[in-house]
Amino acid sequence: MSAQRECGACDLCCTLLRVDALPKLAGVPCRQLRPGGGCGIYERRPQVCRGYRCLWLRGRLEDGDRPDRLGAVLDLRDDAGAPRLEIREARPGAFEHSERLHEIAARFRGTIPVRISATDDVMNPDAPFRLLLPDGSEQRVVGDRIETRRDGRLEIARMPWARRLLRSGLQRWRARRLRRLHARGSEY
Ligand code: SF4
Ligand code: SF4
Repeated sequence: MSAQRECGACDLCCTLLRVDALPKLAGVPCRQLRPGGGCGIYERRPQVCRGYRCLWLRGRLEDGDRPDRLGAVLDLRDDAGAPRLEIREARPGAFEHSERLHEIAARFRGTIPVRISATDDVMNPDAPFRLLLPDGSEQRVVGDRIETRRDGRLEIARMPWARRLLRSGLQRWRARRLRRLHARGSEY
């Protein structure tokens, strides 16, 4: 594997990232993207864009796993000491239809959870996601409904109240932020 990599034709994180300096919300394509691809302000792109390095760019995946080829951006996240692999699909069904993404997920799932969601849903607390857990079980979360598949059995539960509370707080924060950005004349 090579550690010296260039993004080349990939621009998937230009949808994923939140860039306050523009401003741009997470999960929407950047208005600075040129129609043929690439950044229209590359030489003076904000620090957030310069600093972001997905798992592939950091040399943690094979050379052929560049996100635009995989159809997903991969990252390692750490939520208060709980690491996980984040797979953000750039197109619906990317994970389902990719043997390579399944291989990568299986490798990481041996030790940490793998979360699968969509690149453009990053700011939406209601967005559905899948969680593949090291014990072999899988969760599908839609709204506050959690389906858990374990040893061939399906359990359905409602999200615990603390997570529901956090989710509704995030929804209010997101609505406030969207209103503020609209008031500033940004379409984002
Ligand atoms: S997703 Fe990774 S490879 Fe693609 S543009 Fe962003 S940092 Fe570069
Ligand atoms: S400013 Fe350029 S590098 Fe940054 S998100 Fe927009 S298109 Fe991508």
